[in-house]
Amino acid sequence: MRSEFEFILNLKKKYGLNHVGDDCAVLPKDGKTDLVITADMLVEDIDFRLDWTTPDLLGHKALAVSLSDIAAMGGTPKWAMLSIGVPEKLWKTRFVDRFYDGWFKLARLYNVELIGGDVSRSPDKLVIDSIVAGELRKGTAIRRSGANPGDSIFVTGSLGGAARGLQLLESGYQRARLRGGKRSLMDRQLTPTPRVELGKLLNSRTIPTSMIDISDGLAADLHHICDASGVGATIDLDSLPIDKHLDLDPNENVRLALSGGEDFELLFTAKEKYFRGRFSDEVTRIGEVTKHAGVVEVISNGARRILPRAGYRHF
Ligand SMILES: [Mg+2]
Repeated sequence: MRSEFEFILNLKKKYGLNHVGDDCAVLPKDGKTDLVITADMLVEDIDFRLDWTTPDLLGHKALAVSLSDIAAMGGTPKWAMLSIGVPEKLWKTRFVDRFYDGWFKLARLYNVELIGGDVSRSPDKLVIDSIVAGELRKGTAIRRSGANPGDSIFVTGSLGGAARGLQLLESGYQRARLRGGKRSLMDRQLTPTPRVELGKLLNSRTIPTSMIDISDGLAADLHHICDASGVGATIDLDSLPIDKHLDLDPNENVRLALSGGEDFELLFTAKEKYFRGRFSDEVTRIGEVTKHAGVVEVISNGARRILPRAGYRHF
C-alpha cells in the first residue's frame, strides 16, 4: 500500500505543486515579509483517542502541532483557522467548549488570533482541521532543502518521550492517576510544547541551513531533510538526547528516540562554527551531513549501520 508521503509526492509531480514539500508553504506578503501557512488534520481513533485525553488537552494539541510547523520554518505564528466536525454525542455535552478553552489557552501564549473556521456535524468520529499562518522576514524561511555535506546535525530538547507516553496510554495507564516520570512522558504525548521561541531565535541568527519539526520520528524526519537536500547523514547514537524519564532497557530507549514520533522538537542542520557554545543546554549535536544522497547511517561504539526511514507512520 502506498504511504501518505508517496501519495503527496505523486500529487506534486502530477499537478506541478511548487509550494508543497516543507513544514509550511511560504508566500510573499509584502516587500519585507513572507507568510508561512500550515494545515493539520486530527482524526479521532487515528490521531487521538477521546478516552486517553481531555477536551482541553486535545484543544492544546490541535494548535500545538501546527505551531510546531511554523516553528520549523523559523516563523512567528499570528493567525489560525480551526474547523471541527463533531458527532452528536459530543455536541450534547460541554466537550466543544472545553476543547476551545484548551485551544485558546495556548493561542494566548503566542498571541495567535482565531480568524475563522467552520463547525459541522460528523456521523461518528470527531475531526479537527487546524490551519495556522505566521510571518517571517522576507527570504528567511528555513526549508528542508538547504543542508550541505559537512554541516552538523542538531536537535532541540529530548527524544522518545512522546512515543513512550503513547505506549503507556496503550497499556492502560491513565494520566490523572500518574505522577512523576510517567506523567511527564504521557504529557509529552498529550500536551506537546511547540519550539516557537527557539525556532525564531535560530532564524534571527540565520543559523540553520535546513530545519524540520520531529513529528514522524527522528529517522523519518531526517530522511525528509536528506531527500529535500540531496544529501545523506551520519548519526552518533551515543549522543542522542534521550528523554531522561524513559524507563525501558537502553536499546529500546534508543529505538524510541530514533523512531518514535510526535516529540515536536526541532531537527536542523548548521555549520558547526556558527554554533559552538550557543544554546548549549537546549540543543544537542547528534551527527553530520554527508554527500551520500538518501543514505542515513548510525554509529554506535564504532560500528556503522544503515538507518531505514521507518519512523512513525500514520498509515
Ligand atoms: Mg512538520
